[in-house]
Amino acid sequence: MDLTTPLTYVKGIGPARAAMLQAKGLVTVEDLLGYVPFRYEDRSNMKTIAQLAPGEMATVIADVSSAKLSGFHRRNLGLFEVRFTDASRATLAGKWFHGGYLANVLAEGMKVALFGKVEFDSYTGDLTMLHPEFEILSGDDEDGEGTLHVGRIVPIYEGVSKLTTRLLRVFTHRVLESLAPVEDQIPQYLCQRLKMPDLWTALRQIHFPPPDSDLRLFNAFRSPAQFRLIFEEFFWLECGVALKRGKARTLPGIAFEIGPRVRERVKAMLPFKPTGAQKRVIKEIADDMKAPHPMNRLLQGDVGSGKTIVAAEAAVIAIENGYQVAVLAPTEILATQHAYYFKQILSKLGYVTVLLTGSSTSREKAQLKKLVAEGLAQVAIGTHALLEKDVEFHKLGLAIIDEQHRFGVLQRLGLLEKGVHPDVLVMTATPIPRTLAMTIYGDLDVSVIDEMPPGRKPIVTKHATADQVELAYSFMKRQIDEGRQAYVVYPVIEESETQAMKAAQKMYEHLSREVFPDIPVGLMHGRLGGDEKEAVMQRFKEGLIKILVSTTVIEVGMDVSNASVMVVEQAERFGLAQLHQLRGRVGRGAAQSYCILVTEKMNDAARERIRTLVESTDGFYISEMDLKLRGPGEFFGTKQSGLPSLRVANILRDAEILEVARREAVDFIARPPSEDDLRRAVAYIRDHWQRRYGLVTVG
Ligand code: ADP
Ligand code: MG
Repeated sequence: MDLTTPLTYVKGIGPARAAMLQAKGLVTVEDLLGYVPFRYEDRSNMKTIAQLAPGEMATVIADVSSAKLSGFHRRNLGLFEVRFTDASRATLAGKWFHGGYLANVLAEGMKVALFGKVEFDSYTGDLTMLHPEFEILSGDDEDGEGTLHVGRIVPIYEGVSKLTTRLLRVFTHRVLESLAPVEDQIPQYLCQRLKMPDLWTALRQIHFPPPDSDLRLFNAFRSPAQFRLIFEEFFWLECGVALKRGKARTLPGIAFEIGPRVRERVKAMLPFKPTGAQKRVIKEIADDMKAPHPMNRLLQGDVGSGKTIVAAEAAVIAIENGYQVAVLAPTEILATQHAYYFKQILSKLGYVTVLLTGSSTSREKAQLKKLVAEGLAQVAIGTHALLEKDVEFHKLGLAIIDEQHRFGVLQRLGLLEKGVHPDVLVMTATPIPRTLAMTIYGDLDVSVIDEMPPGRKPIVTKHATADQVELAYSFMKRQIDEGRQAYVVYPVIEESETQAMKAAQKMYEHLSREVFPDIPVGLMHGRLGGDEKEAVMQRFKEGLIKILVSTTVIEVGMDVSNASVMVVEQAERFGLAQLHQLRGRVGRGAAQSYCILVTEKMNDAARERIRTLVESTDGFYISEMDLKLRGPGEFFGTKQSGLPSLRVANILRDAEILEVARREAVDFIARPPSEDDLRRAVAYIRDHWQRRYGLVTVG
């Protein structure tokens, strides 16, 4: 048996169980060994019932002498009481509140291992365990390995379908028994330097901790064995990242020239003085553009921090060098918004910007495409379809990708297939927690705008319940009387845009007729045609519309500095990052801005989200919270595939180990002890890790 052996070769795993395991991605011996315990229990303090003393944590093996469910009104409620006895002839009571479900689990005559805190019930005079952990020792077909489950530190696994922790323990033990020692793959010097056990030792200990282990370390995932396996997982991931980065640096790309003329043109375009952060970031970008290799840079900055102007500066550099620029946005409305912005500032320099959207007629499209193909338009803006479809560029030099918070598009970008290596600048408004950025965008260079344009006041955020919505409206009214503008937003859940549109439509009618009959109200939603969207946007910008009722299509892109109030209806239905984005539509001018989150029904998670937003306007903090509340998978949405699948390691829990692994990986790839070491590592990564770090490489 070796690591690649299918689990069906393990005694006790037949086709049915193998299928259950496979559904969890567990196919080979290596997979099973990677399925590590999430908790450990010290069952080495084995006692007889007669030896138990109140107050201690203990393990006993005992027989069920009676079991009964009492005092329940509904199924699953009620108290489940079991009396246990053992060879010492003493009795112990086990009690489970809401224990109705146990009626089918524990029955008279069974032998069980119980683990829990011993208490003295002064009312009945019994020794009692409340809600003890237990494992049934008799009655299944996996007997004979009883010593695995008691009298030692015991690993607890998350059950896989119908396979209990106990069965998984047995299988893992069998695998470890029949497996030849596994060889180390990571460079030896690392084990010495970081004082890590070898892989074989680590694998055995993570499943079956030796008797004298410090259980607290194990349960905190910081035992030497766990450290080793977590480190190893991150190490290979980061080696892969480092190799990818290195490779990108050797690809031939465009070396843009940035002379006095280019500088002067950039200056002429700027409508305001850039902040210090914007200056620093544009320099990082300019340095990349000068280098004869394709730029792969991620531009991070909180919503409203002024990323667009930085992108425009990069565009000017490319255009002045005789190249074209593609601007890709995740939605049509954002593409429209970008087109509006870029046209406005780039026409000053005499450049032509075209917007290609799905809603233009085919004749228009043909004309615009011709402009792009002949190089008469310097900037082409559209959704990602722009590059995937049949748009030919005369000489594409720079692709600006506005990802906002919709990740996962990058991988699909077919730039390389077009045979060009333009520079790529990715913009994102969702600050990505550093540890995630390191793993997911690890092969991109990162620039961060960490400063807001001058004069911005933090947005004041309030929470209101639905019955207080009138207050929100009268507040809006006062702001509008002072000359401001407002947004009212409806949730749109991707698949029910139609429903959200209907809700927005209804609200639009309600607000414009009943609540604000004297105030011009506008309506914006995803089903409007491109021209209509542009027209509504234009009228709101010019202040002809005072209140804009909208679905979340405005979430990105709207830039109206006079808007100072946002009311978000059913705010409990939005995600944290999304609410932060939405809120970023106000607070873009000098006036104090407000965001009112109106909620109907909230669960705990929603309450936590609302609280976070009321408390903070810091995008990085919010993003960390979002990650914590939802976990990495959810954080990136179900469509996201760029997240490497980690087994033992956990980005949230193990951030500091990730840092160590990254440092070591970068160092190892840059200065391997020998060429041979490097070759072996590269081969190992290719064979074992390729499918697991689906990292973003653009272009
Ligand atoms: P982001 O895309 O990062 O959310 P934008 O690029 O849309 O932010 O900028 C937000 C607003 O701030 C825009 O109205 C923009 O014109 C303005 N802005 C950006 N940088 C500055 C600056 N240095 N000084 C003044 N206003 C700025
Ligand atoms: Mg923007």
